[in-house]
Amino acid sequence: MRNLEEIGRTGLMVNPIGLGSNAVGGHNLFQNLNDETGKKIVRAAIQNGINFLDSAFIYGMGRSEELIGEVLKESKTRQDIIIATKGAHRIEDGKVIVDNSPKFLRETVENSLRRLQTDYIDLFYIHYPDEGTPKDEAIGTLSRLKEEGKIRAIGVSNFTMDQLTEANKDGNVEVIQAGYNLFKREAENELIPYSAQHQISFIPYFPLASGLLTGKFSKDTMIEDGRSNNPLFQGEAFLQNLEKIELLRTIANDKQADISSIVLAWYLTQATIDTVIPGAKKPEQVLLNIKTLEIELTTEEIQEIDRIFMA
Ligand code: NAP
Repeated sequence: MRNLEEIGRTGLMVNPIGLGSNAVGGHNLFQNLNDETGKKIVRAAIQNGINFLDSAFIYGMGRSEELIGEVLKESKTRQDIIIATKGAHRIEDGKVIVDNSPKFLRETVENSLRRLQTDYIDLFYIHYPDEGTPKDEAIGTLSRLKEEGKIRAIGVSNFTMDQLTEANKDGNVEVIQAGYNLFKREAENELIPYSAQHQISFIPYFPLASGLLTGKFSKDTMIEDGRSNNPLFQGEAFLQNLEKIELLRTIANDKQADISSIVLAWYLTQATIDTVIPGAKKPEQVLLNIKTLEIELTTEEIQEIDRIFMA
């Protein structure tokens, strides 16, 4: 087991392999989820040394947080676990509205605390930027919630570079979460360099490209779930992506490792990435992903992986 890493300058110490929990209770995001399996996934994570759970209100409109809260209660391990959650979504007349107003951020934090059955959230993110609220004002509200002890660290997610710059005017943003994986590397242009410059930890979501970067898909795989709408899984691009994954497979085979472990280990070689949060639909996937901690990539392997996916 690798040592715990600090998430940026937050003081939060986590296993470099966390658990993305959007398939824990995220019935609005994925079909055929089962709450009991969701709880088993969380238990598998905790029992195997994962101490960092990434949730959000929008994952099942609070259901993910509730299930995590239930598991933490049964094992009485709250103080050993670092919980990240996110808010910004408000339901009004059956519609989802994005709201970063100070009043709503306070309300959503209180609701998350209740669902998680805890009196503090380790890392709270504004999940999405809204149109109207000045971003420094939104972060100001989170700073006050931090002073009050309701949250321990401040994050933003899905912010553009301009929104991030505004949000971080007083230097209070500690974590950025954005989409990033070997196939989608736009964050390397601005967000990751900005994170490095401002001692902000960068946490990539979709690290496994929704499962594609595990190597389990082939050109004959019937894709019948939401992934059929994802351009990475469509047409010529899909075939080219599979070719890149085959090159990764050679590296993985040489190291007697899973492709997913090689991919996750590659992210962790970057200075601004302290932890990754692969999602899971089954407890077994959690066990596979934690095996990443056994992987040491050589400089040559790091460069080779970079080269495969730059092409
Ligand atoms: P991901 O980590 O790229 O892919 C996870 C999916 O890959 C799993 O649900 C599972 O799906 C499959 N998988 C995982 N490990 C595997 C393994 N070892 N072998 C085979 N298949 C495996 O995508 P994600 O879960 O959507 O994203 C990660 C986390 O980021 C989320 O859980 C969530 O916490 C966070 N997130 C945040 C935002 C945001 O706006 N901030 C957006 C999206 C996600 P199947 O079994 O169905 O293949």
